[in-house]
Amino acid sequence: MKKVAVIGSGISGLSISRMLNNRYQVEIVEKNPKFGGLIKCERINGILFHRVGGHVFNSRNHMVLDWFWKHFDQEKEFLKATRNAKIVLLEKLIGYPIENFLYQLPEEKMKVIVNELLELLKENNTDSYKNFKDFLIGNFGEELYKLYFGPYNSKIWNTDLAAVPLQWLDGKLPMPKLNEVILSNILKKEEANMVHSSFFYPRRDGSQFIVNRLSEGLSINCSYTVESISVQADKKLSINKNDKVVDSIVFCGDVRELHKIIQINDNALQHALQNVSGLISNGTSNVLCETDENDLSWLYLPEDKFKAHRIIYTGNFSETNNEGSKRKTCVVEFSGKHAETEILEELKLLPGNLKALAFNYEANSYIIQHQTTRKDIALLKSLLKPYQIFLLGRFAEWEYYNMDKCIEASMELEKESFN
Ligand SMILES: Cc1cc2nc3c(=O)[nH]c(=O)nc-3n(C[C@H](O)[C@H](O)[C@H](O)COP(=O)(O)OP(=O)(O)OC[C@H]3O[C@@H](n4cnc5c(N)ncnc54)[C@H](O)[C@@H]3O)c2cc1C
Repeated sequence: MKKVAVIGSGISGLSISRMLNNRYQVEIVEKNPKFGGLIKCERINGILFHRVGGHVFNSRNHMVLDWFWKHFDQEKEFLKATRNAKIVLLEKLIGYPIENFLYQLPEEKMKVIVNELLELLKENNTDSYKNFKDFLIGNFGEELYKLYFGPYNSKIWNTDLAAVPLQWLDGKLPMPKLNEVILSNILKKEEANMVHSSFFYPRRDGSQFIVNRLSEGLSINCSYTVESISVQADKKLSINKNDKVVDSIVFCGDVRELHKIIQINDNALQHALQNVSGLISNGTSNVLCETDENDLSWLYLPEDKFKAHRIIYTGNFSETNNEGSKRKTCVVEFSGKHAETEILEELKLLPGNLKALAFNYEANSYIIQHQTTRKDIALLKSLLKPYQIFLLGRFAEWEYYNMDKCIEASMELEKESFN
């Protein structure tokens, strides 16, 4: 059997490895002491800590769902929940998505917003947006942008929204039509067709359960950092100076690091690697907390007066997540790196009498795409392919993937390059 090295043991690496495992000799290498990448969790005195946000699963792609449910017993091992998200705005709790709950805003704000929406409906100017900011204003009007979309997105992405290309949104934000928004507000219709309006969540151990199951039977070598990849005369690939020799490599790590790792004398390739080495990502600080009871799944915090941007009520996803605590538990997410002392002060501003239990900073959480990113990554993929090196996953392809998209990308890679 031909040998494949999969670099990185996140959902992308685990998925492609399972897909190839019967036909290839697959080894996953992972620089972290534990496998699972962003979706791994740990127990803190019995309480489940999603170290990066909180991971729930769903997909619109039936092939992805079919593949996923081949590995799990949906009835016995998962809970199905409906999203119950709210937004803290102007000292009130407003429903999510905000455009469906405009009637909960103060009357004077609502009047301005509705007038703007009606103007936009008349203009019907849908195709001319140049960037993310333009798009948000064009879809929701200036007032709603100022109140919610601008501050929330600027906080989470920590970048100039006018520099973010529109292609970034492809398939990620199901955009409501304006007449639907107006109807939703009259009929008080709640979110229905968002990807995560309902979701699946493991009965035990959150996304760590997914990691554990998908890793069964795979060969995974943890605490192993790939520092170099070169090509031998027989075209086989040498990892870390002949420590491993393989026929193909699936790289699921950070594409910005590849220019240091790939030691192949190919000017076009080296140029393409340099081209993506300066891409920008955002980190997040995540805090596991105890909280007062509520029935929410997510609470969004767009206003500048809060440094945190979201609370994920992981303790409401499954009761077993709260084992070890008398109270409910949640994860508070802050964009960027914050000192623990600063976080403790910030928690006092948030609802729920939060008590911090554990902290984690993840340097690589959100990717930022620029105008040429997709083109640059596509070129790099085409230059790596002849060497049998493939890019897969959120940070290797620099795409805003959720878990389901990582599985979908694994399926596509298998079909295109390993059949
Ligand atoms: C805050 C937050 C909340 C989210 N919530 C959800 C959600 O609810 N539902 C959902 O579906 N998705 C969610 N996502 C998205 C999801 O986390 C990602 O899509 C997914 O985890 C990406 O997996 P990956 O395998 O591509 O990358 P990663 O998980 O980053 O895995 C890459 C792995 O490669 C390893 N590696 C890198 N370089 C090397 C090297 N040189 N040698 C060896 N190993 C290396 C890394 O250590 C890492 O383990 C969320 C993301 C964030 C940030």
